[in-house]
Amino acid sequence: MKSFAPLLIEWYHRNKRSLPWRGQHQAYYTWVSEIMLQQTRVEAVKPYFLRFVEELPDVFALADCDPDRLLKLWEGLGYYSRVKNMQEAAKTITTEYHGVIPDSFDALLKLKGIGRYTAAAIASIAYGEKAACVDGNVLRVFMRLTENPADIRKAAVKREVEKELEEMMPAEAPGDFNQAMMELGALICVPNGLPKCGECPLRRQCLAFLHDTVSLYPGKTAAKEREKEDRTILILQDEEGTAVRKRPPGVVLAGLYEPVNIPGHLSEQEVQAWAERAGLHPIEIEALPASRHVFTHLEWRMKAYRIRVGTLEGIENKEVPALVRMKKEEYAIPSAFRAYKDMIY
Ligand code: SF4
Repeated sequence: MKSFAPLLIEWYHRNKRSLPWRGQHQAYYTWVSEIMLQQTRVEAVKPYFLRFVEELPDVFALADCDPDRLLKLWEGLGYYSRVKNMQEAAKTITTEYHGVIPDSFDALLKLKGIGRYTAAAIASIAYGEKAACVDGNVLRVFMRLTENPADIRKAAVKREVEKELEEMMPAEAPGDFNQAMMELGALICVPNGLPKCGECPLRRQCLAFLHDTVSLYPGKTAAKEREKEDRTILILQDEEGTAVRKRPPGVVLAGLYEPVNIPGHLSEQEVQAWAERAGLHPIEIEALPASRHVFTHLEWRMKAYRIRVGTLEGIENKEVPALVRMKKEEYAIPSAFRAYKDMIY
């Protein structure tokens, strides 16, 4: 296929959105924005990005940041391992690279939390290396353009697309080429049967458009079903506030704070019995609306109760391990508990 790069890049220069991390060509900005964008929409990321780089303007500040503060800055973005890994990588960069983010795809790939896509984004946008960014958006565009029926969930297919794109991208503008592909996927060649082919700069070269087969691409096998877990959430409160605890290392949402979170669905009587075993004396137990939260491979189906007690004084010493009083300004509560967040103070 003839390279569509010139047309694509020209379109990008005329249509690209103005984004706070764009045009800066700083490796740090590219890194932070790409990590935030992995699971979050552009519009939602903007204020987080601005706040993050204002408080942590460089790799040294990120490496030195207090872990609770770091999670607080990330609160609401979800997938917190992303920012924990960023801090690990920042520490490596300060000790092994004198605080300068490495300038090659291979070196970037060795840093914690930096995968092929992010390494390629930093290497191409900040340092001009020919490395292709390939994610679901780019795969969708490429498979439609080339009428390629391969399964985009397969790593080998992704690698093949990376290779083909690297051959097509102009040596003088690999960063623009990558960003143009991302932008086309985000604005024009969108998923779910709604691409705006009439506005697409590549429609005269796109095989799927020319053959009227757009809806058949990209090809993929069905995703694996998520594991489902029943949980009971207890908002344990006195007049002064709510008891929360820090989730232990090595589990989902590790290091973040949560209300009491028990496996299984407990009835009101079972909650009463739990409270008594914990040495608490509930004044009132109120059933709250159920909710659910979907992680990548797991789904929590939550029942919830608010338990009012006379005092939480001495809660750390009761048979409820590691509970502390919530400090709103300091502790990050993950969005998995968004249904109950306003009650946690
Ligand atoms: Fe996507 Fe349509 Fe453009 Fe082809 S012509 S790349 S299907 S938007």
